[in-house]
Amino acid sequence: MKTIGLIGGMSWASTTEYYRLLNHTISQRLGGLHSARILLYSVDFADIEPTLRESRWADASSILTDAARRLEAGGAEMVLLCTNTLHKVADDIERATKLPFIHIADACGEAIVARKLKKVALLGTRFTMEQDFLSSRLERRFGLEVIVPKPADIDATHQIIFGELVLGKIEARSKAKYLEVIQSLIARGAEGVILGCTEIGLLVKPEDVSVPVFDTTEIHAMAAVEMALSGENLGV
Ligand code: GLU
Repeated sequence: MKTIGLIGGMSWASTTEYYRLLNHTISQRLGGLHSARILLYSVDFADIEPTLRESRWADASSILTDAARRLEAGGAEMVLLCTNTLHKVADDIERATKLPFIHIADACGEAIVARKLKKVALLGTRFTMEQDFLSSRLERRFGLEVIVPKPADIDATHQIIFGELVLGKIEARSKAKYLEVIQSLIARGAEGVILGCTEIGLLVKPEDVSVPVFDTTEIHAMAAVEMALSGENLGV
């Protein structure tokens, strides 16, 4: 089994989900007392958040490329960046080490194509919804049409992420707001919904929504499991 390298802490509330999903799935796949081999570099989110707010992407990149190099030096055999938003600087992180980098949009795009959907809604932070670093990759590589909420709903969903979800706070009224936003995206023709922020899955579950839900945390973690187990003879 290969060692999975995680750049986490963006936020810790979702990184714990990666840790749980990776271990749970490896345990189910390998049986016995098996668990995932993981190296985690968890940043202080208070160092990262201002770089987003002030569009200091080069500063974010230098923190995260340093984290990737530390994971490589520690023996990780792949790198995952456990946030959608910071995939804005994914190319820098990919170049920083020789390790395979599992891009969150690629894992997600493959899952959507497997369900044969064409038009999907993208929920996430303001940066992820307003900029095109994820949507254009999904459109270019996977032939998808990606829609985002209207401006007032972008504000509301963004505020809930930074005011509550990254702190591990789950509020019923925020869930109701997300479900209302999702409903309006379905009314605009969305055949599926991407939870394109790694904390949204803490709030919205697939059973809450009438169309397929693509939770990037879960999809990303599953792609890491596949890479970690590739080449293993699981029948023995
Ligand atoms: N975890 C979030 C994401 O997937 C937002 C926090 C961040 O800005 O990294 O985009």
